[in-house]
Amino acid sequence: MTGTFSLEGKRIYVSGNRGMVGSALIRRLERENCKVLTAPRSMDLREQSQVRDWFAENTPDVVIVAAAKVGGIHANDTKPADFLYDNLMIASNLIEAARQASAEKLLFLGSSCIYPRDALQPLEEAALLTGPLEKTNEWYAIAKIAGIKLCQAYRRQYGCDYVSAMPTNLYGPGDNYDLQTSHVLPALLRKAHEAKARGDDTLPVWGSGRPLREFLHVDDLADACIFLLKHYSGEEHVNVGSGDEVSIAELAGVIKNAVGFEGELVFQADKPDGTPRKLLDCTKLEALGWSARIGLGEGIAATYAEFGASTTHD
Ligand code: GDP
Repeated sequence: MTGTFSLEGKRIYVSGNRGMVGSALIRRLERENCKVLTAPRSMDLREQSQVRDWFAENTPDVVIVAAAKVGGIHANDTKPADFLYDNLMIASNLIEAARQASAEKLLFLGSSCIYPRDALQPLEEAALLTGPLEKTNEWYAIAKIAGIKLCQAYRRQYGCDYVSAMPTNLYGPGDNYDLQTSHVLPALLRKAHEAKARGDDTLPVWGSGRPLREFLHVDDLADACIFLLKHYSGEEHVNVGSGDEVSIAELAGVIKNAVGFEGELVFQADKPDGTPRKLLDCTKLEALGWSARIGLGEGIAATYAEFGASTTHD
């Protein structure tokens, strides 16, 4: 279902504004004639009363749930309680506070890991809850599925115009480069950069190199979010992907070239592969009228330039 929701003059709360997605949304919203609201760092989104009080005082018209506890395969595997509890609380508190403060529109952001591990690829929206999840990130996935369901339930019970978007693997400025918790793309950029600086002969890559992943530049995601706020009002979540699918080995090759590292890739079989393939079917979003613009090679080159320009990466 398409609509024409105007952002003109609206008070738009971007939660998670210090994260990669939140900061991309704020950059993108500069091109809209609206007022961006952010909460102070001291506000703990897991604490219901703090969130409720902030909403009562700041009365946003539009809420974007870009706040989340996020992390790569290792972080998810070792901190299951944090990934489940924090994300459930963030989603519940923001969605309920938005209703109490009579926000007109809410966009909830999740991730492609909500889909069953063995679902048919490319993953259609309808594949949600049709089979068991990938074990390495089911904690995060369950919380994100709960967020989608909250939006649907609030839409049905209260008539709230709450929608959900599920992006594929993201990268771009402001990514997390901590090797223990990061996703593969920033991890390999940093590892290749450091390997080159040290003059190493090899670049270690976790797993077999065979898993397939799709990558979307965060500026494309931010643009898709603004598009969905304006043009989508429906119960079903919407996939946001790029169609840029590569194996981890191919990704490592692209990164090697971008960084100018000339050594060999070494695949570490003792590290997990995770889900074998994760490609989104974006037919729905394309039919609404949006598609990604930033190609993987171009996006990685820009991200590496930004990585090199910042001085600390911890
Ligand atoms: P996922 O997409 O949820 O599985 O999360 P990741 O981005 O962390 O991992 C994607 C794939 O990249 C997995 O197969 C990892 O084993 C692989 N990979 C290869 N090298 C690395 C690395 O240095 N860090 C991470 N996080 N993943 C890596």
